[in-house]
Amino acid sequence: MNTFKVFKLQKFLQNAITELGFEKPTPVQIESFPVIKSGSDVVGISQTGTGKTLAYLLPLLQELNFSQQTTPRILILVPTRELVIQVVDTIKALTKHTTVRVYGAYGGVNINTQKHDVYDGLDIVVATPGRLYDLAICLAIPLKTIKKLVIDEVDVMLDLGFRHQLKNLFELLPESRQNIMFSATMTEDVNDILKAFFKSPKRINISLSG
Ligand code: AMP
Repeated sequence: MNTFKVFKLQKFLQNAITELGFEKPTPVQIESFPVIKSGSDVVGISQTGTGKTLAYLLPLLQELNFSQQTTPRILILVPTRELVIQVVDTIKALTKHTTVRVYGAYGGVNINTQKHDVYDGLDIVVATPGRLYDLAICLAIPLKTIKKLVIDEVDVMLDLGFRHQLKNLFELLPESRQNIMFSATMTEDVNDILKAFFKSPKRINISLSG
């Protein structure tokens, strides 16, 4: 049987998984783990409900070592405020017993409050593209130290009209980084982003039926 043991997770992650009550990885988690861990660019075609959030979080958190660096190393872009909150909650559950600092940024909230919230630094940012751009351009959340970029539900993001903001954000990111993208469908718009910004991405294709 496939258990999480095959991933040889760091103790804090294995303990968190056990506390969450998850017994075995889903197909997208099994496929994604080694590929994302290897550092290649990755595009996963996978619907919500398949366990895709943990599919990218587990390998990224496995490789995230303790650091005193105050500028963020991982950026996760999602299309909606609800998803920001959900992903932040999942990261908090997975890193409960660590000092990892995670922050969720979305629009419709006072930006000065957000600037104050992030003042002491962070490791992981989860954000919607528009508000993140505002926080990045004034260096409240500098993006030059991002090593891993995840764009989740990129098809929804493009449907919501975030294409321009995405491209602006890419300009603020360092050249050398790992790009990971998840989408429920492979549309022409998604393909455009892939072609423009990804380096020979490895493909993972998991349908709902798994
Ligand atoms: P997602 O596709 O990432 O939105 O995840 C869908 C749901 O599946 C979430 O509620 C997760 O908490 C749950 N989940 C993720 N991975 C597993 C797993 N390996 N075993 C059981 N449930 C899981």
